[in-house]
Amino acid sequence: MKIISANWLVTCDENNSIIKNGAVAFDDKIQDIDTLSNIEKKYPNIQIEKLPKNSVLMPGLINSHVHLEFSGNTTTLKYGNFYSWLNSVIKHREDLINKANSKLILSKLNKMKKTGTTTIGAISSYSFDLDACVKSPLNKVFFCEIIGTKGDMIDTLFADFKDRLSIAKKYKSKNFIPAIAIHSPYSVHPFLVRETLKLAREENLPVTSHFLESKEEFEWLHKDEGSFVEFFKNFLGQEQSVTRPMEFLNLFSNIKNLSFTHCVEASSTDFEKIKTLGASVNHCVTSNRLLNNTKLDLGKLKDIPFTIGTDGLSSNNSLSMFDELRNVLMSHYDKNVLEFATLLLRAATINGSRAMGLNKGSLSKDFDADMITFNLPDEIEDKEDLAMQIILHTKFVDKIIIGGEFV
Ligand SMILES: [Zn+2]
Repeated sequence: MKIISANWLVTCDENNSIIKNGAVAFDDKIQDIDTLSNIEKKYPNIQIEKLPKNSVLMPGLINSHVHLEFSGNTTTLKYGNFYSWLNSVIKHREDLINKANSKLILSKLNKMKKTGTTTIGAISSYSFDLDACVKSPLNKVFFCEIIGTKGDMIDTLFADFKDRLSIAKKYKSKNFIPAIAIHSPYSVHPFLVRETLKLAREENLPVTSHFLESKEEFEWLHKDEGSFVEFFKNFLGQEQSVTRPMEFLNLFSNIKNLSFTHCVEASSTDFEKIKTLGASVNHCVTSNRLLNNTKLDLGKLKDIPFTIGTDGLSSNNSLSMFDELRNVLMSHYDKNVLEFATLLLRAATINGSRAMGLNKGSLSKDFDADMITFNLPDEIEDKEDLAMQIILHTKFVDKIIIGGEFV
């Protein structure tokens, strides 16, 4: 067993407990968490790693939604309008994907680790990111993605998807969890949605899907109108949407670990359904700002838990969760900054963990020992400021512990 102590422990537990001068005893799971003086009394024979003044110890961050296969993009893709972005992705897809080889993806994963992320939900369209994901020490929920609406292609697409999933399943380990992503309601034929969800239920795999990311998607799904008309006609010879939003959501019953990404155009009825499904919402504020100039209405979520995702570098300039948290904090300027910062640290830890069916994201007994440490630039007088100051000032972390090991 190892023990580490810090000035501040941010537990992200049920009560949002903050322990001043606290310590954590752990092996691969967290065994004990208490004040340093109590831990010293309880474990007199174990050497304690004492972190310096203004140090913080908290659960590792969980990035619930990222597309690593688009890590090659910096300045190529068009932002400002979802439809222009989509067309630019189609135009540059080959080049971008070729650029994102394992070496590049591994370097991005390494930077994610240094910026405090210990777990990712990786949406994999082609499994070109598999090799890098397997090699990285981060915890991965590896979402093999299904996409395609053309009736005559269904068998081929489903066979290809099952191949990718079965290869991913060969790498299953305590830090690599195979899972299923449905691309979106507009891009996946209901037959494929039904069949992949059947697999998810049989094998108890976590599931995620993009949902109502843009106005264009809303108009197409509800009314077969808008810019998507041209897109579907030109690329797929399709004049009507394959589904309606509620029909799509209805297919997701009895999925244990389920999340929907974006939801910026979802209605209150959609959110009621998402709540009934026991799903979480992955909030990707930077991506939504860049592609759509819109933002998720957190008020509409009521008590649906939300998580934080960076989305890919196809719609973000950074995969750092602290960069993303700063953006979320600044974007929702109607919220009290202190309370909201506390909520955001939970969203980026325990909520991400629950959305993907993990046992992580909290400094609590029997949780996986995934932790990060860093130092604040100066003292904090009032502990209610702590979460906000962490988000404002943290760029890189000092120590990263995954499954009880320093990595
Ligand atoms: Zn995405």
